[in-house]
Amino acid sequence: MCKCKICKGDYDKDTTKLQCRCTILTSIPDTLINLTELNCYSWTYLTTIPDTLVNLTRLQCYRCTTLTSISDTLVNLTTLYCYECTTLTSIPDTLVNLTDLQCYGCTSLTSIPDTLVNLTKLGCCGCTSLTSIRDTLVNLKYLYCNECTTITSIPDTLVNLTKLGCNGCISLTSIPDTLVNLTNLACNGCTSLTSIPDTFVNLVHFSCNGCTILTFIPPSYSFVNIRTFNCDKCPYLKQSHFYTYKRRMKRYNEAAWIIQEKFWYPIWGKKRQIKKGLKMLHKIN
Ligand SMILES: [Zn+2]
Repeated sequence: MCKCKICKGDYDKDTTKLQCRCTILTSIPDTLINLTELNCYSWTYLTTIPDTLVNLTRLQCYRCTTLTSISDTLVNLTTLYCYECTTLTSIPDTLVNLTDLQCYGCTSLTSIPDTLVNLTKLGCCGCTSLTSIRDTLVNLKYLYCNECTTITSIPDTLVNLTKLGCNGCISLTSIPDTLVNLTNLACNGCTSLTSIPDTFVNLVHFSCNGCTILTFIPPSYSFVNIRTFNCDKCPYLKQSHFYTYKRRMKRYNEAAWIIQEKFWYPIWGKKRQIKKGLKMLHKIN
């Protein structure tokens, strides 16, 4: 017998928040019309979210591996997390109030609707069926699309981006020079990338480990605020590149310098690893 809130009937029509780990439930009661927040963890048999839950503003589905769709009536959603929902094929284009969409590891998802123009955060790491990032998402500040192996470009309209993580995007051939507000750029393992634009004047953290055909990165004076720089396993970058960065960062005392294999972190989302990496950087300095 499952002891989760829904199986126990521990809810009523006034319930506004529900967090539930259940592996046997096939559906969420459609009478929970006042729900504003719903977290579903590992609901192995869940196939849909009821279309009556129209007051939901926050919905999180973790490893709901039989969830095939999200109702297009949930128009009040501002936050939608659907991690590793591997059978989810689409996000409704009616969810225009979404500001934060994280759909990591949704391997059947083929597109993000171009109507989600209010998005400021998009995380779609490991969505290996996703072929492009929409150019209408102009309000995006954070874009994490690590391991989106079929994406070939980042739209040049995303001029508000401050953080871009595109590690392991092996089909990505360029990063647009219009992204002038970038402070963080992690493009480790982008094996089709040949150059980095010199227009990213606000860049603070930059790493391009394992970009095996990268032949050009701008001279360090293009990036006056650079604090950390990491370019291990880039065989075509000239040693002179490294030294200009090293000199610049020494001038800014708190800055750090690194070309060491052990700091290679392929997934941007692994915060702990990054933190550790940064701590080590400061130690070296
Ligand atoms: Zn249960």
